[in-house]
Amino acid sequence: MLWTRTFIPTMKQTPEGAEVPSHVLMLRAGLIHQVMAGAYTYLPLGLRSLRKAEQIVREEMDAAGAVEVAMSCMSPVSLWEQTGRVAAFGDVLVQVTLRRKERKVPVVFGPTHEEIITDLVAKHISSYRQMPITFYQITPKFRNEERPRFGVLRTSEFLMKDAYSFDASVEALGQSYQKMYDAYCRIFGRCGLDYLAVEAESGPIGGDVSHEFMVPASNGEDMIVHCEACGYAANLERAEVGPSGTPAPNLPMQPLCQVETPGVTTIEQVSRFLGCRPQDMIKTLIYTADGQPIAVLIRGDHEANDAKIRRAVKAQHVALAEPELIQRITGAPVGFAGPKGLREKVPIWADRAIQTMCNAVTGANVADAHLTGVNLQRDFQVAGFADLRVAADGDPCPRCSGQLALRHAIEVGHVFKLGTKYSEALGARFLDEQEQLRPIIMGCYGIGINRILASVIETHHDADGILWPVALAPYEVVLVPVNVMEPQTRQVSEQLHNELTAAGVDVLLDDRDQRAGVKFKDADLIGFPLRVVISERGLKQHQIEIKWRWDQESEMIDLEGGAQAILQRIRHEKATNQGFRSRST
Ligand code: ATP
Ligand code: MG
Repeated sequence: MLWTRTFIPTMKQTPEGAEVPSHVLMLRAGLIHQVMAGAYTYLPLGLRSLRKAEQIVREEMDAAGAVEVAMSCMSPVSLWEQTGRVAAFGDVLVQVTLRRKERKVPVVFGPTHEEIITDLVAKHISSYRQMPITFYQITPKFRNEERPRFGVLRTSEFLMKDAYSFDASVEALGQSYQKMYDAYCRIFGRCGLDYLAVEAESGPIGGDVSHEFMVPASNGEDMIVHCEACGYAANLERAEVGPSGTPAPNLPMQPLCQVETPGVTTIEQVSRFLGCRPQDMIKTLIYTADGQPIAVLIRGDHEANDAKIRRAVKAQHVALAEPELIQRITGAPVGFAGPKGLREKVPIWADRAIQTMCNAVTGANVADAHLTGVNLQRDFQVAGFADLRVAADGDPCPRCSGQLALRHAIEVGHVFKLGTKYSEALGARFLDEQEQLRPIIMGCYGIGINRILASVIETHHDADGILWPVALAPYEVVLVPVNVMEPQTRQVSEQLHNELTAAGVDVLLDDRDQRAGVKFKDADLIGFPLRVVISERGLKQHQIEIKWRWDQESEMIDLEGGAQAILQRIRHEKATNQGFRSRST
C-alpha cells in the first residue's frame, strides 16, 4: 500500500478531551475519529488493527471447536423481559421503538446475546446427543454506558466476541469452560498482552469460579490483587485475604466507657474527635440478608465486601439496611451503631480482623455517643468470624506467605459459568440419556476486541507514539524513502514494496514528498514494528537501513536479499513477540 493512496490523518497536537495514552495516540496516529462521546469511526489503519485482533480471536475460537454465527443486533424486548434483564440492565439497555404502520415494535440493541442464542437453542436442540456445542460471534454490542470515556476502552457501541456453551452436565460445562479459558490464553498471548487470569465472582454453580482476563495498566478502571510469589490473582470483589500473622496485643482490658460524640458519625470524625486510630475502631453495619437483618463488624480502616458477606451468611441477596431499620435495630440514628447493646437481637458477623482487637471504639447505640474499651467476649459475642472485607494493598496472600499487591487493570475478557439461569427462563431443555427433561447448562465468554487494541497501547507506548506487536500492527513494515523524487531510491523502494507484498508481508510505502524527519515522526507515532529506510547514501553501499520501533539502534543490511531478510525477521518476531515484550510501559 502507498501512503498517498490510503488515508492517514496524523495529528501533532494532543486532541482536546483525550486523557489516557490509548485515546490520545489512537486519535493522533489517525486510527480512529470521534463521532460523539462513546462512538468512533475506525479509519483505515485502525480498522486494519481491529480486523487483525478479530482474526486472531476467530482463529482460536475455531481451533477450540466453537462454531461461528452472527446474531442480529436487534431483538424483541419481550425476550429480555422473560429473563428479567430489562430491569437488571436499566438505562444501560439501548431500546428503540420501530414504527411499522399502525404497529409499534419495541426492540433492544443487544448489549450481549444470551437471550437470543438461548432462544435459538431452545428451538433447535432437544437431546443430549446434540451437545456439547459452543457458538460464537464477533458483532457490535450496544450499551448506554453511564460514562463512556477513555477512547475505545469504554464506548456505547463496541465490537465483542461473545461465545456461549451448551452442555448436558456440570462436568461437561467444566470442559467447555476450560477450552475457552485455554483459547483466551492463546489469544492474549498472540496479542502480546501481559495479562492475568483473575478469579472473579462465581456464577450460580456453587464452588466454581469465573475468570476475568485483566491487563494490569495504570489507567485500568478495575482493581485486582496479585501475589507475585505464588501467582494468586483475583478481582477486588472476589479477592480473599489471608490470615494475619499478628497476634492480639497483650493489653489489659480497659473498663467500658460511654463518651459523648455529638454529631460525630464517620470513622474519620470519631477518630479525630476521640484521638484514636481508625484501626482501633469497629464499624457496625446493619445489613439485610434475604430480608432478615444482621449486623456486620468491620475494623475501622477496612471496607466491607458485600459479596463475601453474602457467601458467609449463605444468602442470595444482601444489602445495607435503610435508615428506619437501622434505627429500629440499634435504637439510634445512622452513625452510632455498635455490637454492645443493640435494641433488637440480630446475628452479629465479624470480619476476622476483629478477633485480635482489644479496647476498641464502637457506636453506643445511643444518639451522639460512642463506647471506648469495648472487648470481644466480655462486651459482645458474635455468630461467626469470616473474611468479610475488601482486600487491601499489602494484605497477606490467601495461598502463600506472600503479600497481595493492589493494581489497576483493564478487563479484556471474561469467562463465566452461567448454569441454567437463561435456559430455565427461556425453556431451553433437553432429554438426557434416561429420557429425563432437564435444563441445558450454559457458559458465556466475552472478549472486547477494541479493548485489546487500547490495552496494547496503554501498556506499550513511549513519548514518540505507539509500539505494536507485529500481529496487530496496521502494517508490519514501513518503507521510508528519504527522497522519493530521486529515481533510484524510488525504484528500489517500489521493488522492495512489491517483493515484500508478494511474500505476504504487510507493507506500507511512505511515498509522500516530505522531509525524512516528518516521515520518521509519523512512523514512530503510528508504531510500525519495522522501519526500512532507503537513502541515496545507503544505496551507494548497496545497503538499506532497518530499525525496530522498540530499539534505539538501526542496522544496515544488504539490499541484495533484503526482502528475504526482512521477511525472516518479521516472521520470527510475530511468532515470539520477543522485541515487543522487551519494552513495556
Ligand atoms: P466492564 O466491567 O468493564 O463494564 P463488563 O464486565 O460489563 O465490562 P462483559 O459483559 O463481561 O463486560 O463483556 C465482555 C467484554 O466486553 C469485557 O471483558 C470487555 O472487554 C468488553 N466490554 C464491555 N463493555 C465495554 C465497553 N463499554 N466498551 C468496550 N468494551 C467493552
Ligand atoms: Mg465482565
